[in-house]
Amino acid sequence: MDFFPVFLNIRDRPCLVAGGGGVAGRKINLLLDAGANVYCVAPELCDNLKAMVDEGNIEYIKRDFVQDDLAGKVLVIAATNNQAVNEKISKLANEKGLPVNVVDNPDLCSFIMPSIVDRSPVQIAVSTGGSSPVLARALRTRLESMIPSAYGRLGTLMREYREKAKQVFSNADERRIFWETILAGPIVEMVMAGQDDKARKSLEQAFEDAQQGNEPETGEVYLVGAGPGDPDLLTFRALRLMQQADVVVYDRLVSKEILDMARRDADRIYVGKERSNHAVPQEDINHLLARLGKEGKRVCRLKGGDPFIFGRGGEEIDTLMQQGVPFQVVPAITAASGASSYAGIPLTHREYSQSVVFATGHLKDGSMNLNWKGLAQPNQTIVFYMGLQGIAVICRELIAHGMPDSTPIALVQKATTPQQKVVTATLGTMPDEVEKSDIKPPTLIIVGNVVKLHERLNWYQR
Ligand code: SAH
Repeated sequence: MDFFPVFLNIRDRPCLVAGGGGVAGRKINLLLDAGANVYCVAPELCDNLKAMVDEGNIEYIKRDFVQDDLAGKVLVIAATNNQAVNEKISKLANEKGLPVNVVDNPDLCSFIMPSIVDRSPVQIAVSTGGSSPVLARALRTRLESMIPSAYGRLGTLMREYREKAKQVFSNADERRIFWETILAGPIVEMVMAGQDDKARKSLEQAFEDAQQGNEPETGEVYLVGAGPGDPDLLTFRALRLMQQADVVVYDRLVSKEILDMARRDADRIYVGKERSNHAVPQEDINHLLARLGKEGKRVCRLKGGDPFIFGRGGEEIDTLMQQGVPFQVVPAITAASGASSYAGIPLTHREYSQSVVFATGHLKDGSMNLNWKGLAQPNQTIVFYMGLQGIAVICRELIAHGMPDSTPIALVQKATTPQQKVVTATLGTMPDEVEKSDIKPPTLIIVGNVVKLHERLNWYQR
């Protein structure tokens, strides 16, 4: 180790920053975040620092650095643009045994500042010992994306119950095992999902259970949207829950690449649906999820797109709600957003469309029970899910309800995947185009003048 990592308490203590430029400003911000009293010495200040002085956040000493500035300080940062001054500050501070940092000059530093991932009260500090600040920042960026922002609230919650844990478990090992069990259980996910009250109640319950010698409750169902197909479009939360599930229950729209990202040793249960030939009836899926959750499993119910857009997610959580099984819902990019972006067809556009409607084009007994008049409005984009089989009916009805047969329409096959294909035509010609083509589901249909933009904005090349 070239440097010994520590965390300093500088709250309400005087710290000196020499220099009035942008670099000094960034260091001052960090010191203020840690609650320090900041003294800034410099002949001139940049605008940001001037504003901080005006707001009374820092003390400003308007002149060059002098030795006396070090008196009474607990920490010094030299950020002037004058190498000789920086060296002098370093030398004087070292003589006094004051921790000193000279920006971008590790040889003159008695301490260096890490890259920080701030999840207060949790702090992660990354250092390369001054070898490469860029590498430290790159690592920090990776950590930022891996560590949910709610870890701060988790830290606060655990701090709140630290004393209680000491009272309940006088033995340090028992206490550690208790907290480890909590961190591996559903309470963490409650905090991540913003359900802090529920988390607090469950934690209280866990203390009770531990005192009574009861088994803790662990089962939970995560209703997770897997997005339209490209695995990169998963949310951080979706990925995290997939990777900690004991069981993954998935359907046909979830691509293999995405399923492969779930925890290796999780059980996988396929409940895919073929059109009008439901492989597993919805009722059975609802009860399966409830049963697995009650058995104490962490169940990831993975669904294509967003669970609450033509996904029957509402029915699945209704059953869980009734049976008292803990659950949470993770939103995702719905097929309309995925297809729109990747086909270069904005769903709204100042010139062409001021509203957008999502409708189901699912055929039932050869027709669709839709408010065609409401759909066939000018300056509106209509997106049909599940509409490939019913394309002829859709085009016929829209024309019959007043849309010109020259209205542009697009079919987007397997949007966001390497098999994406876009077919454009008009309401008058699309049914014939589909007959001729070998378009395969899943397919999304977009109707409206925005489809004209596809030719110009088609950016996604596989
Ligand atoms: N909950 C899903 C929709 C489920 S309904 C969502 O939010 O996207 C199933 C329909 O979604 C399919 O018939 C098709 O119309 C559409 N769909 C889903 N993924 C798609 C994709 N990658 N490309 C095109 N359409 C897709």
